[in-house]
Amino acid sequence: DDQNTPLSLNDEAVCIAERQVLEGAPPLSSHWQLFDSNDMVASRAQQADSATVIFCLNHNEEIRTLAQNIHSLRRARGAGLKIMVREMQTSLRYSDERLLLACGVNAIVPFGAPMSRFLTTLESIQGQRYNRHVPANLDALLQSLQPLQQKGFLPLDAFCQSVAQLVSNTLLPENGKGLLVALRPVPELKPEQALTLCKPRRYGDLVTVRGDRLYLFLSSCRYNDLDTALKFIFRLPHDELFSNRLVWFEDLQILSEIRQMKALVPEAWKDMPPEINVALPEVTPPQPIEHQTPQPIVLSFNQQGVPRE
Ligand code: C2E
Ligand code: C2E
Repeated sequence: DDQNTPLSLNDEAVCIAERQVLEGAPPLSSHWQLFDSNDMVASRAQQADSATVIFCLNHNEEIRTLAQNIHSLRRARGAGLKIMVREMQTSLRYSDERLLLACGVNAIVPFGAPMSRFLTTLESIQGQRYNRHVPANLDALLQSLQPLQQKGFLPLDAFCQSVAQLVSNTLLPENGKGLLVALRPVPELKPEQALTLCKPRRYGDLVTVRGDRLYLFLSSCRYNDLDTALKFIFRLPHDELFSNRLVWFEDLQILSEIRQMKALVPEAWKDMPPEINVALPEVTPPQPIEHQTPQPIVLSFNQQGVPRE
């Protein structure tokens, strides 16, 4: 009986796994111990020292319990344990992966990865020790990694305050909190009209209007996923709605832009007719260099095809 096999002091080669991760295959060797649930895996692993512990994940509702199990194992059993999660049916959000990593997981095998890839990942973490600090307070960790409990339109001040607060959260990765996006509608469309087409769905996705632009904050969205997110959020193709788009993703850039957004709306401007508000950027004094948006670098090439400085 797997469950009664005592773990030796040196359990380096032992794999304690939820049965599903082997997709119905029997134990791969005498080192494998299969269990019918993640909870059974977790309780067995409470006696392990440097075994590999493999959980499965079928539904995003299991994330919290999984985080609890991983956190408790890592805190109680130390850095020698090798903890893995195999996604069986669901795609974890980036923010969910981050939570599991913060709780002490060594590796997450994504949904859709074949058995061979799973086994390679398993091999790759052998001999590893987990080097990062796992905070003792799981509730604080869960709370700080949850998105803001706000969604959709916020007035400018509230928007700036929420984004600034999120960007200042030191438990979130540096320069990885999300994207601040400024979108200028095509001339035929007023910003307020563009706003009615904007339907944020996720908690933590915020939008506001300032001057002639829509500002969106997309929580824990990565730069290369921006188009995917915008496609979900706007009913119509966003390149037909907007003529210009600026994106900030580094903490300091976002904070600096937020500061500027607030600063550029002094009380006096608020009662001005909209035409004047639209002209606002032209009448402001030139901004210090760090406020400017980074431009993509275009390398020119010489005749040998070697980039020139
Ligand atoms: P996907 O739908 O292809 O989205 C890819 C990435 O685009 C997401 O990665 C996220 O960074 C960004 N993204 C897409 N829609 C939104 C949005 O409405 N708001 C924000 N802030 N970002 C968005 P992520 O988060 O790692 O998610 C990976 C995949 O997990 C998604 O790929 C999707 O297949 C699945 N997923 C995540 N959350 C949900 C959900 O609430 N419902 C469903 N059905 N699938 C989800
Ligand atoms: P929510 O975060 O408010 O997202 C609401 C709906 O937006 C989702 O409904 C889904 O239709 C859509 N959505 C949000 N992000 C994405 C994305 O990246 N890709 C795609 N394809 N769709 C996205 P759904 O799927 O019925 O989920 C309902 C709620 O369940 C979500 O509300 C969220 O609270 C939770 N949820 C679903 N999937 C995930 C996930 O992968 N991770 C986490 N943490 N929560 C999830």
